[in-house]
Amino acid sequence: MKMIRSRLAPSPSGRLHLGNAVNFLLTWLMVRKAGGTLRLRIDDADCLRTKPEYLEDIFLQLDWLGITWDEGPTGPDDFHRRFSQQLRLARYREFLAELRRLGHLYPCGCSRRMIRSLAPDGVYPGFCRRRSAEPGEGEAIRVRVPEGSVFRVDGQEVPLCKAMGDFVLWRKEDLPAYQLVSLVDDLDDRINLIVRGQDLLASTAAQLFLAGLHGDNFFAGGVFRHHPLVLGEDGRKLSKSDGALSLAALRERGCSRLEVYRVVARQVGIEPDGIVTLEDLLLRFPGIPG
Ligand SMILES: [Zn+2]
Repeated sequence: MKMIRSRLAPSPSGRLHLGNAVNFLLTWLMVRKAGGTLRLRIDDADCLRTKPEYLEDIFLQLDWLGITWDEGPTGPDDFHRRFSQQLRLARYREFLAELRRLGHLYPCGCSRRMIRSLAPDGVYPGFCRRRSAEPGEGEAIRVRVPEGSVFRVDGQEVPLCKAMGDFVLWRKEDLPAYQLVSLVDDLDDRINLIVRGQDLLASTAAQLFLAGLHGDNFFAGGVFRHHPLVLGEDGRKLSKSDGALSLAALRERGCSRLEVYRVVARQVGIEPDGIVTLEDLLLRFPGIPG
């Protein structure tokens, strides 16, 4: 059996919420049950939205939840010194250059507003597809996704082209986009278990597509698990803008970590009554779902 390597990938662009906590606990449980290695990878590629208090919040909440990791930063200073994605921009550019050399990329100067007005679903309809020149100032770089591209991800068919169109790999702010950064880090860290919310099925398909373009076989051999999302009281997905549902706010209102463990227990079908500690949850946890 291969050694499991997984990661927690919070971004310091808002306070962690209950949905993040459930994702991290599920990942931790799967890795610990398998005797694998867990890495903390803080996704600060979007440096325009990174704030020091959000970075600090990640460490505070992980500590509160009792989540331990084997690789990655021990705190904010260590993160900036050794692990920030801002230190890896040359690596992301190199990956981008390789895809460009292979002829898969094109520059795009279309504004978000223009795309919205012509494509109400927000999926980019490929206006600039025929361009091949170098990007101009303030232009994004997109990848050509063949029409009809469908990927099988975690037991589901994901129509990548329909869901994401020719998605952005490099942003007009001259920053790497999430899909590229996440894939390159997973490749470099030899990650073979990725645990995400169901809202990221299309992202997983996008990254499988990119890995294939790049000629990589390792990524596709990984295990991908997409769990149901924790919904807010209105039935909608939690987001970082719902400040009231942040872990920090829940704690201020007296929510204990036990309640969070029980949310996880219910999600994986464990009777929550007997759960008092994270170890209790680990003992009853069935392992990586098949
Ligand atoms: Zn365009």
